[in-house]
Amino acid sequence: MCHIHPDGDAIGSLLAFGWLLAALPDPPTVVLACADSVPPALQFLPGADGITAAPPAGPWDAIVALDASDPARLGDIYRAVLDSPASEQPDVLVIDHHITNPGFGALNYVDPAAAATAQLVLRLADALAVPIRDEAALCLMTGLVTDTLAFRTSNVDAAVLAAASRLADHGVSIAAIVQRTLSDQPAAILRLWGLALSELRVEDGVVWSVVTRAMRAAAGVTGEEDGKLVSQLINAAEARAAVLFNEQADGTVEVDLRARPGYDIAQVALSLGGGGHPQAAGCTLPGGWAEARARVLPLVRAAVEVARPR
Ligand code: AMP
Ligand code: MN
Ligand code: MN
Repeated sequence: MCHIHPDGDAIGSLLAFGWLLAALPDPPTVVLACADSVPPALQFLPGADGITAAPPAGPWDAIVALDASDPARLGDIYRAVLDSPASEQPDVLVIDHHITNPGFGALNYVDPAAAATAQLVLRLADALAVPIRDEAALCLMTGLVTDTLAFRTSNVDAAVLAAASRLADHGVSIAAIVQRTLSDQPAAILRLWGLALSELRVEDGVVWSVVTRAMRAAAGVTGEEDGKLVSQLINAAEARAAVLFNEQADGTVEVDLRARPGYDIAQVALSLGGGGHPQAAGCTLPGGWAEARARVLPLVRAAVEVARPR
């Protein structure tokens, strides 16, 4: 299983882990599951059409959670499988790189120094002496590319580039992945950005904006996605941190947080019931977005109060 609202690292790691298990000498029966459907931009990944949002009740020996910082991030399918009478207490194995992960499995392979969960799956394949197939290489590279914004985040080091170099040996095109997963946006999303960017505010180094249901309707966006607008907000030269409030259909507000290197907003997200990384985190809050703003902005402002050298 991977996390709800899946990104390239969630789907890429899930699929690559599936390829890894299939290559074991005595392959187990595997179901790949995600509580939300695979976004169109990730449907090109080999095996994506085999991911289910309704895994059978079991019996299962184990649940493997990939790229999920806590059990709630796995959605309702996690409890459904874990508590199914057909499964006698499956073991939970957690493979993740979020600094806020409490280690909710019986076995936890959690490394916050990794830039993507895909990097950990590649390490596991090496440890198990499983050869990487071309399909797995494409999935793993997609995880690396999306979580590092094409190798531009501050956690990109020699190990990340070495992993990417190995995957590139399989003929994987980084440019094609970047285009499909990071650059391409439906025109309606760009229109939505226009509406949200016109509301942008800068306060004490915190750049923030909101995507409301009304904006989404005006822009012609039907889903709940916003094209990761917060990644644009943090590009404001004035920004130490960026916040995007995104009104969800169920009345909650998804809060996306970003911080420049030297600042840490992971703990802000954790204190609000969410999680993430020092430079990229998020949480989901009940109530309207004005209420969310009143709760979140003071905490973010406090987290970036002391200026760090650029
Ligand atoms: P995103 O803004 O969706 O790219 O997410 C940035 C990071 O924050 C990711 O690593 C997510 O796992 C984490 N994150 C985002 N939203 C939530 C949430 N509602 N609860 C917990 N973690 C979140
Ligand atoms: Mn993810
Ligand atoms: Mn990740």
